[in-house]
Amino acid sequence: MSKEYETVIGLEVHVELATKTKIFCSCTTEFGGEPNTHTCPVCTGLPGSLPVLNKKVLEYAVAVGLATNCDITRYGKFDRKNYFYPDNPQNYQISQLYLPICRNGHVDIKTESGVEKQVRIHEIHMEEDAGKLVHDEWDDVSYVDFNRSGVPLIEIVSEPDMRSAEEVIAYLETLRETIQYLGASDCKLNEGSMRADVNLSIREKGTEEFGTRTEMKNLNSFRAIANAIKGETERQIDLIESGEAVIQETRRWDDNKGSSHPMRSKEDAQDYRYFPDPDLTPIVISDEFLEEIKSRQPELRKEKLERYEKEYNIPAYDAEIITASKKMADFFEAATAICNKPKKVSNWLMGETLRLQKEKGLDQDDIPFSPENLASLIELADEGTINNTVAKEVFEKVFEEDVEPKKYVEENSLGSVSDEGELRGIVEEAVKNSPKAVEDYKAGKKKAVGAIVGQVMKATGGKANPAMINKIISEILD
Ligand code: ADP
Ligand code: MG
Ligand code: ZN
Repeated sequence: MSKEYETVIGLEVHVELATKTKIFCSCTTEFGGEPNTHTCPVCTGLPGSLPVLNKKVLEYAVAVGLATNCDITRYGKFDRKNYFYPDNPQNYQISQLYLPICRNGHVDIKTESGVEKQVRIHEIHMEEDAGKLVHDEWDDVSYVDFNRSGVPLIEIVSEPDMRSAEEVIAYLETLRETIQYLGASDCKLNEGSMRADVNLSIREKGTEEFGTRTEMKNLNSFRAIANAIKGETERQIDLIESGEAVIQETRRWDDNKGSSHPMRSKEDAQDYRYFPDPDLTPIVISDEFLEEIKSRQPELRKEKLERYEKEYNIPAYDAEIITASKKMADFFEAATAICNKPKKVSNWLMGETLRLQKEKGLDQDDIPFSPENLASLIELADEGTINNTVAKEVFEKVFEEDVEPKKYVEENSLGSVSDEGELRGIVEEAVKNSPKAVEDYKAGKKKAVGAIVGQVMKATGGKANPAMINKIISEILD
């Protein structure tokens, strides 16, 4: 009874593209808004309306394909996927079945425990998003909001190459980072701009043949994905161990309950009666178009990592952390361009910024202050206008309200006490009050001055210029 099983996983990942307008009309893609205000005859499926492809969608899809090592299909088409559901006003979704825009790609992943492997991408296709049903708890009716209808998506279909939750998460992180670097989407799982469906089967370790798979939907965090993979693996093993069969179906994972239930039996492509959409012209990708996209590909993370170590001379460790978020990397470059102190900028980002982001439940992407203000804070600290303790205090204000450090320091009189005459009096007083420290210091325990510095800091409300205190102490004692 102690057979060993292996989990086999393939992902279908939907990503909402960051275009301003929808895929086949000029309605805004902006999230929210009053229901059915971001709509027109095209995206509400009115008869007689005609879709026209948004060129930006094609550019993003090709950019993602190139960054994930895919072949770009030079002659492509859109197809109608027919099904009835109230959030789908045309009774078909415009998607791509026969000639998807990208095929045969791969991404290189590295798991948390250091395993490196390649996950192959079967294809990437373009399609439109559906509307949203709103269920009214009191009125016993459902409404439909078409604001999301026609928002552009790409669907990235992997080969069944993953074997654990760890690999799945590494794959998703790699995709997310790549797509964010391209600026093609913000890829937020919790907001639905990135959605992953997990196809999972098990097989006895050492065997070749795949088992029957299920597909799990409704996974909106890495934690839910990991839980769902664990739960579904166990469920399938139990079935097989007790002599039953896994049924190919779509299941909904309920992360609160920690279990899944069937949604529908698995449908095949033929159930949808796909056929080429006669309203849209075929897509022809010219050499020039492809070259243009290639020439516009931004620097991706790998290249940035190398450049940071060379150009800014910051440790690999710093570069790894900063470049994990494209937004933070951009911020780093902008602040460094102003103050020309890369290591200092890096320290503020890796230390206080990450700490406060965590404390306030923000993403690494959410940097609520400007590069100018961080650069100016660094200057103030470097020239000794404020000491380190005050700098941390001012930084919190910068983080919370994006205050201008220089103005804030002046208005709150936080500048260091650097007036030598004033400081000397305070230091003399402190020396007088610390006979023990003076004795220790004279006996060679240089560290004993700490007690004196502490008193001076206390007397000045933490604003004394530390370099100057040390200078005065040494003048008095040495
Ligand atoms: P369909 O078109 O019916 O959705 P696909 O062949 O396109 O099926 O596969 C959909 C996803 O399921 C892909 O990501 C693929 O890697 C994955 N997949 C296919 N077969 C298996 C299997 N036996 N176990 C796990 N994942 C699988
Ligand atoms: Mg599929
Ligand atoms: Zn529209």
